[in-house]
Formats: sequence, structure tokens, C-alpha cells
Amino acid sequence: ILEISGLRKSYGSTEVLRGVDLHVNAGELVCVIGPSGSGKSTMLRCCNLLETPSGGRIFANGHDVTSAMVDINRLRQDIGMVFQQFNLYPHLTALDNVSLALRKVQRRTNAEAEALAQAALEQVGLGAKARSFPAELSGGQQQRVGIARAVALKPHVILFDEPTSALDPELVEDVLNVMRDLRQRGMTMLVVTHEMAFAHAAADRVVFMDGGVVVEQGTAADVFENPRETRTQSFLARYG
Ligand code: ATP
Ligand code: MG
Repeated sequence: ILEISGLRKSYGSTEVLRGVDLHVNAGELVCVIGPSGSGKSTMLRCCNLLETPSGGRIFANGHDVTSAMVDINRLRQDIGMVFQQFNLYPHLTALDNVSLALRKVQRRTNAEAEALAQAALEQVGLGAKARSFPAELSGGQQQRVGIARAVALKPHVILFDEPTSALDPELVEDVLNVMRDLRQRGMTMLVVTHEMAFAHAAADRVVFMDGGVVVEQGTAADVFENPRETRTQSFLARYG
């Protein structure tokens, strides 16, 4: 569903991604781990062209993301994104945050958009909070609205960039549970996370990035219990 090969990204003379190879199959939950500055966010942002790749190829659902012909609106419906800082519109209710792209991008009627948005909010356990504004919701609830917004567009894959790292510890599990539930429903997900226990238990595959490349990848058991590379070993040792 998502195929990244030889992905490069430079800012000026700084090469942040130095040839990343990574794929996500349909229905897989793939977790990306790695130290700060290793290029994890940049890699995700290249996938939906929030950053323009400097080189390499990305195929999403058979379409070449890096082609000049790409339709960005189409792409961002196919590849959902959930951000660390939620990125909700503060002046819109939960329902309007979720229905906005359904109306503006997918050009659905208000009634249709609201019905789909309500269903997405119910899927993340927030059916009763549809009329609340972000400021009236906990961080965990705001993030679940962020997930509902991505889910509502029925993307082929959802990218998550540290979805729980802005949350108080007691709210993290609610969000992880929503992600576990999405996986049960067959959603394809690429998740950058520092939640090692979640990655270990929930991921089909784990990818370790360092210095702008994929250093090691494998099943969660391979990477966590039998890391082959010294850099992976020392990173995991620091996380206990
Ligand atoms: P973290 O775990 O801290 O989120 P990360 O693995 O997501 O780290 P990135 O955010 O992808 O890392 O950043 C990789 C490198 O690229 C960093 O050294 C960062 O300073 C640099 N970088 C990111 N965005 C830009 C930008 N817009 N301009 C210049 N340099 C950038
Ligand atoms: Mg990051």
C-alpha cells in the first residue's frame, strides 16, 4: 500500500534523509522508532508532500507520490495524517473539525458529511462530544478527534507522528486503544512512536531509523528481543 524507496531529503546542505527504504502492506501496523533528529517526522511528511522529497520514490496505493502529475487533494485523502499537537481548528466543534474535509475536499452535502463525521467520532468513543470545542476536551479526546478526522476520509493508510507524546500519561492508553481498535478493523497504519511497549505488543513490524536511514527492521519480536545492529541495541537499552 505504501512503498518508499531511496527517499532523500535535504535542507540546504544538511541531508536529513539519506535513502530510506520502507514499505507498509495492507492491514499492517508498522511502528517507526529511533532517536530524536533521525528523520522520522520528515519521512512521514514526505509521504503526503508536507515536505517535498529531494530524491527517491514513494508509491501510495500504486500512485507515484513524487510524480509532477500527483493530485495533492487526492493524495491527502488516500494518506491520512495524525499529528503530535493534534492540529485541530480551535474555533470549530469536534464534529466540524471532522466534517470539514468531507465537505470542502470530498464535496459532500452537509447532512452526509455530518453523518460520516458523527460515525467517525463514535468509532473513537466521542459520539457524545460532537458539539464540544477543542478547548473543552482533554488532550486525549482532542487526539481522538484528530484520529476521527483522518478515519472519516477512509484513507488507504494513516500516518501517525508521535500521537501520544503531547499527552499526560493517564490519557495515553485511551489513544493507543483507539489505534489498536483501528488495527482490528484492518486499517493500515505507519506510526512513529516512543511508546516501546505499544510498538512491541501491537506492531506487525518495527523499523528503527537513525541518521536518516533505516538501520534495521523486522517483526516486533525480532527488533525488540533480538536486535542485530549495535545502534539498535544501544537505543533500546536507553529505553529499558
Ligand atoms: P524527533 O524524535 O525529535 O521528533 P525526528 O526523527 O522526527 O525527531 P525530524 O523532525 O525528521 O526528526 O528532523 C530530522 C532533522 O532534520 C533534524 O536534525 C532537524 O533539525 C532537521 N529539520 C527538520 N525540519 C527542518 C526544516 N524545515 N529545516 C531545516 N532542518 C530541518
Ligand atoms: Mg519527529
